[in-house]
Amino acid sequence: MIEVLLICPSCTDEIAVDVDRAILRTDVEPRARAELLFCCPRCDEPGLRPVGSELLALLLLVGVEPMRLSEPTLPPEDRGPDLPGLTPEDLLSWHEQLAAVDDVSPWES
Ligand SMILES: [Zn+2]
Repeated sequence: MIEVLLICPSCTDEIAVDVDRAILRTDVEPRARAELLFCCPRCDEPGLRPVGSELLALLLLVGVEPMRLSEPTLPPEDRGPDLPGLTPEDLLSWHEQLAAVDDVSPWES
């Protein structure tokens, strides 16, 4: 059993977290940091501890299998077009075009 000693952020007790009962979360891209997600054995509250490069290397060396997560992304059909962003001139031009509009009626089918 491999344990990590840490301070619980909820009850502030010093606790030993069994890594078999915790999740070591890393990014898909190799990085020298991770997070350990755990439930405090004293207060049962969930907790998160940042894991630096030294501890991460030790945990990987002893065989802890990390959960690798990537950044959330939108499906291609929900992403915006690859166009330049709006400029202040675009907004000014839009306001000038709207100045001539007196009223708007809803679409009718
Ligand atoms: Zn606790």
